[in-house]
Amino acid sequence: MYDLHHLKGRTYYIDGPTNCGVYILNDDNECVLIDCGTALEGPIIETVLRRNKLKLKYLVNTHSHADHSGSNVYLMKMTGCTVIASKIERAFLRDSKLDIGFLYGGYPIDEFDTKLMHIDDQKEIYALEQLPEGLRSFKLPGHHYGQIGIRTSDGVYFIADSVVSTELVAKSHVVLIYDIQGYLDSLDYVEELKGNIIVPAHADVSTDLTETIEFSRNKIHEICDVIIDYLSKEHTAEEVTAHIFEHYNLRISYNKYMLIMATIRSYLSYLGHERKVKNYFKDNKLVFISMEAFEDKF
Ligand SMILES: [Zn+2]
Repeated sequence: MYDLHHLKGRTYYIDGPTNCGVYILNDDNECVLIDCGTALEGPIIETVLRRNKLKLKYLVNTHSHADHSGSNVYLMKMTGCTVIASKIERAFLRDSKLDIGFLYGGYPIDEFDTKLMHIDDQKEIYALEQLPEGLRSFKLPGHHYGQIGIRTSDGVYFIADSVVSTELVAKSHVVLIYDIQGYLDSLDYVEELKGNIIVPAHADVSTDLTETIEFSRNKIHEICDVIIDYLSKEHTAEEVTAHIFEHYNLRISYNKYMLIMATIRSYLSYLGHERKVKNYFKDNKLVFISMEAFEDKF
């Protein structure tokens, strides 16, 4: 773990809990880092770069989650690198309270572990137009609001959290998704990249992610079916969330509850848009019911 692996031409990656991309810019060994791990990993990443005589010039965050941008501040301070992110992710990076409020849907209760979510507020973050020559960004909607992927001039694709390992999906069942349709679209997009070198942040490097993608896609459809079955009677989003915890036998904690609750709300919006679920108010509660049960009832 934490070794610099050559992929193709100027493109490398450092393996770890979050795989980080490295792209060499010139003969002076100036480089770009694509994602940088948690705050704890900053000194490790810096040592790997230094050991390989690489000078960090740019740091690109695929999205603002702490396991992708947690060591931004450390690396900026140590190397003076320029940080680049997409428009919306820049907003999340600038205010550490934004993501936790976004997930909770209001000012968060004290019990949420801010260490997990906390990203140091950062002033100087640049737009994607500042990406150096040789790198191109592309949108990867679904997992987070403004997530992007990066393609290097060697044809290597860094695809962030658009695809996670089969092991992780099998264990967690519900992975954090903001936009279900966007997530499915990103899976389709990455599936088409077959034959190129693809680097997911949380799965092994591959040239064919078909099986991993199919597993994720099936899991999403399975969760939709579990929700629709449960909504043969009307329930609130919180009751659906409780049912998901019970159905998959998931261990509850404040952080897990917040992530899954937000994701279940996204599933309910997706199913509503797909006309598989209806919502209405009952006793001043927003309740959801399957379209089938709704049509039988009314
Ligand atoms: Zn993420």
